[in-house]
Amino acid sequence: MTNNTIPEFLVCPVCKGPLEAGTGERRELVCPSCGLGFEVRAGVPNMIRAMARTLSEAEREAYAKARSTSRNTTPRD
Ligand SMILES: [Zn+2]
Repeated sequence: MTNNTIPEFLVCPVCKGPLEAGTGERRELVCPSCGLGFEVRAGVPNMIRAMARTLSEAEREAYAKARSTSRNTTPRD
């Protein structure tokens, strides 16, 4: 059990997509689809859209890449 585990019911408030644990120094939940980072302060994620930070293009790519390699890559479309 790690602190980076995100409950399945917790989704992005904008697109309702799955969130990723923030990497690096920041404590945040990231939505790679929207390119938003939601700050986690004192263990409580701030899921207000207006308070979220915008990820840089590089960060967004890194999260998208991490996701695609961590999932089963079998095409299902
Ligand atoms: Zn989103």
